[in-house]
Amino acid sequence: MTQVTEARLAREAELCYACIALVTDYDAWREEEEGVDAASVLEVMHANVDKAQRLLRQVVPQLSARPRACACGEALKAALYTAPEQVPQEARERLDLLVAKYGYGTA
Ligand SMILES: [Zn+2]
Repeated sequence: MTQVTEARLAREAELCYACIALVTDYDAWREEEEGVDAASVLEVMHANVDKAQRLLRQVVPQLSARPRACACGEALKAALYTAPEQVPQEARERLDLLVAKYGYGTA
């Protein structure tokens, strides 16, 4: 499935984003493979959850130990064009967490 929505939301929140994709079966495109049933998919999915958890336990400490070298943390810096005084209070309150540092906050 596409990751466009997640990637876009992460970008707007100035978060780094990566996808971990773990396959549960290949029967949709490997015609020589036997068909799968829900039980076998669930079995692989449970194993994949374990793999993903182990991966995150290893990677997250490594990522958090080093400074971010990308521009994700300032993705909105050049994306806000409306003059801050023109942004309605309701929008300021709703977006305060994301845009306050650019002068669009409620404070
Ligand atoms: Zn990043």
